[in-house]
Amino acid sequence: MAVPKHKVSKQRTHTRSANWKICKPTLTVCPKCGEMIPPHTVCKHCGYYKGDSVVQIKQEKKD
Ligand SMILES: [Zn+2]
Repeated sequence: MAVPKHKVSKQRTHTRSANWKICKPTLTVCPKCGEMIPPHTVCKHCGYYKGDSVVQIKQEKKD
């Protein structure tokens, strides 16, 4: 097992951590229903991908 040769200083750790930023998820507009969805995924609102219905979306039950 590889063993670190030197202790990583607090400053080095903190400097590395300072470059880790929160980023917004990439979203695109579904051409079928207009909802915001991640790219290259089946739309969970309408079940369409690349203009074809690939997943049947269940209708929510109303009490
Ligand atoms: Zn959609």
